[in-house]
Amino acid sequence: MKKMRIKKIEPVVVSQQLKEPFYFSQWEYRLRTICLVKVTAEDGTYGWGEGYGPANLVRAGIEFFAPFVLGADALEHEIIWQQMYLRSLDFGRRGVLLAALSAIDIAVWDIQGKHFGLPVSTLLGGRKNEFVKPYATGLYFSNGGDLKEKLIREAMAYKKQGFLGIKMKVGLGVAKDAEYVIAIKNAIGREVELMIDSNHAYSLREAIQLCDRLKGVDLSWFEEPVSPEHYSDYRKLRARTDIPISGGECEYLRYGFLQLFQNRSVDIAQPDICAAGGITEVKKIAALAHTFGVEVIPHSWGTGIALHAAMHLISNLDIVPGRMYPPAPWMELDRTENALRDSLTEPLIAPENGMLRVPDKPGLGIEVNEEALAKYRVDSQQI
Ligand code: MG
Repeated sequence: MKKMRIKKIEPVVVSQQLKEPFYFSQWEYRLRTICLVKVTAEDGTYGWGEGYGPANLVRAGIEFFAPFVLGADALEHEIIWQQMYLRSLDFGRRGVLLAALSAIDIAVWDIQGKHFGLPVSTLLGGRKNEFVKPYATGLYFSNGGDLKEKLIREAMAYKKQGFLGIKMKVGLGVAKDAEYVIAIKNAIGREVELMIDSNHAYSLREAIQLCDRLKGVDLSWFEEPVSPEHYSDYRKLRARTDIPISGGECEYLRYGFLQLFQNRSVDIAQPDICAAGGITEVKKIAALAHTFGVEVIPHSWGTGIALHAAMHLISNLDIVPGRMYPPAPWMELDRTENALRDSLTEPLIAPENGMLRVPDKPGLGIEVNEEALAKYRVDSQQI
């Protein structure tokens, strides 16, 4: 059988200075820096991947894995995955090394799709949904002007653009959060769903207080209410509120997610394909989640590479529970300022009537714009 050996693995760090810094409960964003990877097979077919995490560390991880992946058959993604996993298991069971593994895994899937002339969603077993339903992630905090007014304006702009769901940040303190969340829900109305995300800003006591204050507000989920380490606090919060609880963007591999599931911590699991183990592993995490009756709505943040990987995987997710008219699955679509997302890859992601059609071009279905890549590429001294 003819092999398709990998001959080159090239991490590429891109960076963009933001025009307007913004912040959330943990830190401020002034710069957006992302590590991509280009993996090339011996016949010249190449694929792109992306890691979610500090770019210089993701790049170091890719450099660490490269010798174990070079020469491997790009058509055997599970063998490549297993090799990287076993090489990192003793010291990298969580965290950024797995973002590097994820980036390479995604690139390998892209190569396979191009080789077979099939979209990644078909390689995964087919699109159980032709459309995904993007929700707008935004409503971060910023200085200058009346924040509540700014957030309402931003939310109304997403509604006007046709988004059927909006996720806002919380974490400014229970009283202020409650005031802002209620104001935004009142502004956007019942037809647009609202989710809140504290990025683990709260103790269990504070998270309960916030849920109590938001009783009856009709929220679709409360994301990362408490520290990702406190699986039992997640469970206790779930028992105290009707608001669905989500988490998992800081979780890794099946083994990490198993802790969330066994502890009955979440209604919705949010693995990041660019961090939790790539397409190969997140498909397995999703299968595990479904056996526990947990919904899967991946976390996604980054360039068109990450977003397209998410679209393919989400379209392949099982429809659970099965029924004739299931709702289209959600997909996170970050709307904050991001020139990397908007210029590095083509085609651009553009929702129509609040929906995104899953691409049917080979691989991830994107081309990287070399001009934009050269513009945003930075060398090691700059990151
Ligand atoms: Mg989040």
